[in-house]
Amino acid sequence: MTANGSRPPIYLDYQSTTPTDRRVVSAMEPYFTAAFGNPHSRGHAFGREAAEAVERARAQVATSIGAEPREIVFTSGATESNNLALKGAAAFQHEQAPNPRNHVVTLATEHKCVLQAARRLKAQGFAVSCVPVPESGLVDLDALSEAIGPKTFLVSVMAAHNEIGVIQPVAEVGALCRARGVHFHTDAAQAAGKIALDVNAMNIDLLSISGHKVYGPKGIGALYVRRRPRVRLVPLIDGGGQERGLRSGTLPTPLCVGLGEALELASDEREEESKRIGELRDRFLSAITERIPDILVNGDPARRLPGNLNLSFPGTEGVALVGALPDVAVSTGSACTSALVEPSYVLSAIGLTADRAEASIRVGFGRFTSVAEVDTAAARIAEEVARQREAATPGRRAASS
Ligand SMILES: *Cc1c(COP(=O)(O)O)cnc(C)c1O
Repeated sequence: MTANGSRPPIYLDYQSTTPTDRRVVSAMEPYFTAAFGNPHSRGHAFGREAAEAVERARAQVATSIGAEPREIVFTSGATESNNLALKGAAAFQHEQAPNPRNHVVTLATEHKCVLQAARRLKAQGFAVSCVPVPESGLVDLDALSEAIGPKTFLVSVMAAHNEIGVIQPVAEVGALCRARGVHFHTDAAQAAGKIALDVNAMNIDLLSISGHKVYGPKGIGALYVRRRPRVRLVPLIDGGGQERGLRSGTLPTPLCVGLGEALELASDEREEESKRIGELRDRFLSAITERIPDILVNGDPARRLPGNLNLSFPGTEGVALVGALPDVAVSTGSACTSALVEPSYVLSAIGLTADRAEASIRVGFGRFTSVAEVDTAAARIAEEVARQREAATPGRRAASS
C-alpha cells in the first residue's frame, strides 16, 4: 500500500479518544427520537420511559466498577467528574467549622484537569502536595504516605495514564488512604473498561469515568461517589437538584444510555480484547525495534495498558514525526504554545531529559486496530525516523536487520 494513497489515515491515537462503537450508537438511537422524553418528567409515559433507560444505564455503569447504581452521578465527562471530586470535596471540608481539613495530595503526572483543579484550590487557600513520580511513572507509595498529613482530606491518583499508559497500584493506594483515614479519588478515564476495577476491593471513594475513552459518546461521563462510609461533596452546578443534588440539569438520555452500553460491552469483552490489543502492541514494538534498535519505551514497560506505547526516538523531534506522517494518526506528548514546543510535563515530571521528551510520540492501539495497520504504521514511522536522522546527521544510516 502506498504511503499517501487515498485511504484514510491509520488511527493510532486511542488514548486521545475512541470511535463510538456501532452497537453503542444503535442502543442510543431510539432515545433521540421515539423515546425523547425528559427523564425527570415522571408524570407521563414519555418521561418514565427515558427515566427507565437512564436507570438501566446507571446500573450498567455501577456494575462495571462494582458499585451500587445510586453511587453513580452522570456528568459531562471526566474533566467535570475530576473537578467535582476535588472541588466538591474541598468545598465540603471548607464548610466544616471550626477546624476543617484543608490539604489535597496528588501526583505531578496527573491529568491537567486534576492539576488545574488543585491549582484553583490552592489559589483559594487550600494546601496542595504534588508528589514527585519516578521514571517508571508508578507512584512511590512511601512518598505518597509521607505526603499525607493530619489535615489531608483527599488523595487523587490516576488509575491508568493517558500519556505513558502506566497502571498505578490502585488497590495499594486505596489501602493506604483507608488506613490513614483520607478519601481516595482515582481518575479512571483510561482505566474503566480496560482493566478490572472494583471500588470496594480497591477502597476507592471517588472514581471518574469518561464515555469517549471507552467507545462511548463524547460529552458524557460519571463520578462514582461512595455511600458507605459516605463521601460528602458540595455540587459545582446548582439547579433542579438532579443526580441527588450533586449535578443539576436535565440528563442527556441517549448519552447516558451510550455510556452504560459502552461500559457493559467493554467489561464483557475486556479479557479477549486486552489480549488481542496487547499482541498488536507487541507486534508493533518488535517491528519498529528491528528497524530502530535504539528506541526507548517511556514509563514502566510491563505495568501498562495493553493499548499504549510512549516511545522516544533519540535524535528526532516528536512534533516533526507527527507532522511528517499524515497517513498515521499518532500524537506527541508535547504541547505547542505560541510556536514554542514545550516537552510534555508528564515526561519531564518522570525525569526524562528535554531531548528525550521532545523525541517522543504516543502510539495508541484499540478495538478497531488491525494487524495490517500495525505493520504499515511501524514501517512508516521507522522510515520517517530514519529520514529525520539522516537529515540531521547526513551519512548516518538507520540500522536494519
Ligand atoms: C481524557 C481524559 C480526561 C478528560 O476526560 P473528558 O471526558 O474528555 O473530559 C481526564 N483524565 C484522563 C486520564 C483522560 O484520559
